[in-house]
Amino acid sequence: MPSRTQAAPSSPLVRSRRIVVKVGSALLVDGESGRLNRAWLETLIEDVVRLRRQGKEVVLVSSGAIALGRRHLGLPRGSLRLEESQAAAAVGQIRLAHAYKELLEQWDIQVAQVLLTLEDSEQRVRYLNARATLNALLERGAVPVINENDTVATAEIRYGDNDRLAARVAQMVSADCVVLLSDIDGLYTADPNLDPKAKFVPLVREITPRIESMGGESASEFGRGGMTTKIMAAKIAVEAGAHFCIAPGSPRHPVRRIEQGARCTWFKPKSSPAAARKQWIAGRLRPSGALIIDAGAERALRAGKSLLPAGVTALRGRFDRGDTVSVIGADGREIARGIVAYSDEETSRIVGHRTNEIAALLGFSGRDELIHRDDLVMR
Ligand code: GLU
Repeated sequence: MPSRTQAAPSSPLVRSRRIVVKVGSALLVDGESGRLNRAWLETLIEDVVRLRRQGKEVVLVSSGAIALGRRHLGLPRGSLRLEESQAAAAVGQIRLAHAYKELLEQWDIQVAQVLLTLEDSEQRVRYLNARATLNALLERGAVPVINENDTVATAEIRYGDNDRLAARVAQMVSADCVVLLSDIDGLYTADPNLDPKAKFVPLVREITPRIESMGGESASEFGRGGMTTKIMAAKIAVEAGAHFCIAPGSPRHPVRRIEQGARCTWFKPKSSPAAARKQWIAGRLRPSGALIIDAGAERALRAGKSLLPAGVTALRGRFDRGDTVSVIGADGREIARGIVAYSDEETSRIVGHRTNEIAALLGFSGRDELIHRDDLVMR
């Protein structure tokens, strides 16, 4: 293979397994005509296919619904009222999803549209459901294409920008890499349009107040102010253990270019996604309840397995699905803490039973595990 096409060993993208790629409106939709930049999108999709051939999983967070829809409703250029942009999103989203479907289908890849609201990432049970759905899609080889559910999001409770949505999605699916593609090519020490001495920052090891100040004050979508939300997104992603990259999106094959070491700004994660998740569980305040388990279940947990209902002998306290509970051994010692997949009431009906009996006992088929091993921290 000629060295030109070889991946630069330093690009964290090469080592990542689960990657979130955020695609900005300005790349997808031509500012003049309001039409989809299809030729460019084809090259992005080829990059996605390339990543998947390397055994990686890809989640796309795509903007562009409003930009794509407004022309079809005859809405003027410039800023829109909330209900106008929501109407434009309704028209644009179906076109956007269709474009992704058409292009990915050519490569025999299933595309799945997922529309999320801020509450889906902030409310525990909705978060868990969204997470389970995304994991199910990824496990089955589909490419989720995510956008904010603009038509129902209200002004007060919305992400508003897909940069933070992408970071929250990365946290949700424990992705190890987030790539933000937009018309901003990376981080500078000052606004390069105003300050000739502004320097490009290729690597951020830690998001210090000084780095945050490089985001600038304004938050307009097209100005450099877009950097502020990007740094906020970077903070979420690195805390969640993901590498984070701000890269120029407009060249053809934008992701392949990053893989090959093209200039962009990388933010280093604080730990791995798995470690970040466990820290988060361990750091959660008082457990809401407790599960008492037998010796066999204790051995299974110590061997890195999940907690199944069969190994639980009793429970204490009131809890909902998604709460943190203590796991107590037969001798009364706390063995672990974890996020429980059923409420106390449901748990009381399934404890001591086999996994294949859960559906009959509860009337719906939930998770096989009471606490999945990814959601469990040993004490
Ligand atoms: N959800 C908006 C759209 O699809 C875009 C938000 C953003 O650009 O960050 O049009």
